[in-house]
Amino acid sequence: MTVRSPREADARSFVTRLECGRCGTTADPTKEAHLCAACAGPLLVRYDLERVASTARRDVLDGRPQTLWRYRELLPLDEPARAVSLGEGVTPLYQLPTLGRKLGLRRLLIKDEGLLPTGTFKARGAAAGVSRARELGVTTIALPTAGNAGSAWAAYGARAGIDVVVVMPASTPEVIQRECASYGARVYLVDGSIADAGAIVKRAVAEHGWYDASTLKEPYRIEGKKTMGFELAEQLGWRLPDVIVYPTGGGVGLIGMWKAFDELRAVGWLPAGAKRPRFVAAQAAGCAPIVKAFREGKDEGEAWPDPKTVAAGLRVPKALGDFLVLRILRGSGGAAVEVSDERILEMMKAIGAGEGVLACPEGAAAFDAAYQLRQAGAIREDDEVVVFNTGTGMKYVEQLQGDPPRRIRADELVPCVEGSRGTV
Ligand SMILES: *Cc1c(COP(=O)(O)O)cnc(C)c1O
Repeated sequence: MTVRSPREADARSFVTRLECGRCGTTADPTKEAHLCAACAGPLLVRYDLERVASTARRDVLDGRPQTLWRYRELLPLDEPARAVSLGEGVTPLYQLPTLGRKLGLRRLLIKDEGLLPTGTFKARGAAAGVSRARELGVTTIALPTAGNAGSAWAAYGARAGIDVVVVMPASTPEVIQRECASYGARVYLVDGSIADAGAIVKRAVAEHGWYDASTLKEPYRIEGKKTMGFELAEQLGWRLPDVIVYPTGGGVGLIGMWKAFDELRAVGWLPAGAKRPRFVAAQAAGCAPIVKAFREGKDEGEAWPDPKTVAAGLRVPKALGDFLVLRILRGSGGAAVEVSDERILEMMKAIGAGEGVLACPEGAAAFDAAYQLRQAGAIREDDEVVVFNTGTGMKYVEQLQGDPPRRIRADELVPCVEGSRGTV
């Protein structure tokens, strides 16, 4: 038996292994690891949940700062105190009564991820991913992105002193391109989708020995994103809602929340008999591979040929973890719903003018998915429905809705503009 140094004994990590989400093959969590060596599936972080349960009761959270690091026993750092942080989390969860009335949902709640650093929930994944990469001694991170992951990893990379190389479709909203560059990342544009960007990163990573932070190719991004699930459970007083609607690109947030709820039950922070929510994946009609696979009863999606939607975060033609997403949707009695860009834009306006929330197109798609399922009777009027607005609309200036401001003279100000609060 080896004698542990006091430093190691103090290490707070409860991580036991990395485990393939497809075939169960394990990998060493103390080394840099990407995909499963046996089947190239995504690796998931596993914890000694019994030891967490016996050392940390739920009340360890009392008095801890309101950031995602309050759940440190269930996060993958050796030294949580040295996390790379921009003060991420906890995001607000609240009722939307006006929009709820329009959509026919009496208990409609938003979890607004637009208030995180870099304006999207990608900050959660980057906080955990960059922090762990720094512990592993990484000096350069590379990733393909539909946009927001690039800016989040660029920001946390800047904070950590790690170089970040970002490759994104040339169609990525310009604000996001410039935002990435503002954090000092090297930003490259490609003609094509995130899949084309991914192929370029794969080649460069092999050649230069950079750390590949592509979605689900490293195991820690999902650990950050699962904190959405921890927060939701805690904010609801350690119970879960009837339905969770999540705008799904790579599906990381959805897989993360599912994992989070399993872990919370295993450590006894959620009662064993706690309600299990139905998960709903919202996708854009112009890129809906998971909706298609769900409908056709398939276990895995096929690459969507030409992704086109204003919801940049949903332009993922083939998600590495789609088989996990489909398993979760079916296993929870949930659904997958596609939303047209037209409806996305209408919904952005309805949320903004009705509730004062500047939703991103992805979030707006999730609200419309809830509406469609309510119309179809799959969601009941009194179901408690939590919709994730995954980012702020401020990053999508080209898509912001509302009547264009009109230049006027001193005597021209007229009363109320008809219909300016939007229709659903
Ligand atoms: C990346 C992104 C999504 C999709 O997230 P996944 O967890 O990869 O499915 C949704 N909304 C926004 C704003 C995003 O940036």
